[in-house]
Amino acid sequence: MIGEPSEVTNEMIQEVNEVLPTGKVRYLMGCGYPEDILEAVSLGVDLFDCVLPTRNGRTGMAFTTKGKIIIKASMYAKDRAPLDENCTCYTCRHFTRAYLRHLFNTGEILAGRLVSYHNIHFFQQLMAGIRHSISEGSFVDFKKEVSEHFNFRD
Ligand SMILES: [Zn+2]
Repeated sequence: MIGEPSEVTNEMIQEVNEVLPTGKVRYLMGCGYPEDILEAVSLGVDLFDCVLPTRNGRTGMAFTTKGKIIIKASMYAKDRAPLDENCTCYTCRHFTRAYLRHLFNTGEILAGRLVSYHNIHFFQQLMAGIRHSISEGSFVDFKKEVSEHFNFRD
């Protein structure tokens, strides 16, 4: 997954599925963008692990329900909203975008921790949504809705 285009990754998942025993857990390393996770789940992958939530969090990129936010941008200098108004994480309940931007711009290490914390919460919510939609038999609709809503690669 790491480095190759997602089309190649998806082809490899399909090839590996043909030789792996059925009924066993599938693990994919380095798959972190929500749109890639959703596609991999649709191909049968069960487990993921990726640095994206914390690596991007440390550099000021937040995954939100309205797309990505680069918190260092000057447009957030006086923004008193949380990173994500739909998020219930500690960071979003206690800090504004303006404060997080200030922490980044002054080199405060707490900034990366707070945005990483939010990003991990975002992915936990995404995975909970995936699990719930699978158990309800509505994963295809969930994937379509989320995929149309997000494009974090741009
Ligand atoms: Zn949050």
